[in-house]
Amino acid sequence: MRGVVMYGPGDVRVEERDDPRIELPTDAVIRLAATCVCGSDLWSYRGIESPQWPVPMGHEYCGVVEQVGKAVTTVRPGQFVVGSFFASDNTCEICQAGYQSGCLHRESACPGGAQAQLMRVPLADGTVVATPGMPEPDLIPSLLAASDVLGTGWFAAVAAEAGPGKTVAVVGDGAVGLLGVMAAKQLGAERIIAMSRHSDRQALAREFGATDIVTERGDEGVERIKDLTGGYGAHSVLECVGTPEAMQQAIRSTRRGGHVGYVGVPHDVQLDGIDMFFSHVHLHGGPAPVRSYLPHLIELIWNRTINPGRVFDLHLPLEQAAEAYQAMDQRRAIKVLLRP
Ligand SMILES: [Zn+2]
Repeated sequence: MRGVVMYGPGDVRVEERDDPRIELPTDAVIRLAATCVCGSDLWSYRGIESPQWPVPMGHEYCGVVEQVGKAVTTVRPGQFVVGSFFASDNTCEICQAGYQSGCLHRESACPGGAQAQLMRVPLADGTVVATPGMPEPDLIPSLLAASDVLGTGWFAAVAAEAGPGKTVAVVGDGAVGLLGVMAAKQLGAERIIAMSRHSDRQALAREFGATDIVTERGDEGVERIKDLTGGYGAHSVLECVGTPEAMQQAIRSTRRGGHVGYVGVPHDVQLDGIDMFFSHVHLHGGPAPVRSYLPHLIELIWNRTINPGRVFDLHLPLEQAAEAYQAMDQRRAIKVLLRP
């Protein structure tokens, strides 16, 4: 099969790899209908993270089950499934509490190598969810979005306690931030302030439910949020970047007693104990328990209530993965979908 492998910063190749196979009775092998490049893949692409090269890339996936191990009972070959980027058994106490990405029995951090024609998913029963039937082709980008960026934006909104009567601010206008706006809207937030300087992303934020746009950053951005909220700050702030600046902006834009949901993977973020002590802000975040939200997200997509697939503003064949990484690195594309 063909698959994407990164050999070092900026060095993305599509090459022939061994077909994945069932290794454990709890595995499934999936033929991908679509996959994509994640903002988090860019940390390696830019040399900010240095994994053990070469690395098979990709952790966002949906497609048709090709094979299952003997112990798999909830999905069968021929079904279309969407899965989380963390394997989980979905039965331990942590999973049952809604934190599948922290599953006690997760055997590999991520079902990796999703930028390929086929992939192996461990703990299939607790990791993937079948759709009600074969999706119409135009639903596939949205189902793919549910696999990570929508689920992650959703967790940010839940962690920030977005809901009726709340003013929500979103730091970050990448796919996760934009879908955080969508999640806040679905959760009933009254006012949603998207922080973005790019007109195309502002337009998408508005389409997803943003009521206000703030273009300023840093101290000025915080002041604008305060201005818009009677000096209080937002009730709920979604941090969807992972840089020290974004985290500071999120915490300082939150009112006392408010909540920050942070889902950007932190890079060099340091928090000052005294600042935190006096901020009275709740912080909650981490890798999103996407599996927990998948049944609900699939339903919203299936009945066409939401269209998160709009974040894919460039679709390319898998063979052009190198171009996909470049387009996202240069911010020419919000998110690139790859057709295997
Ligand atoms: Zn578990």
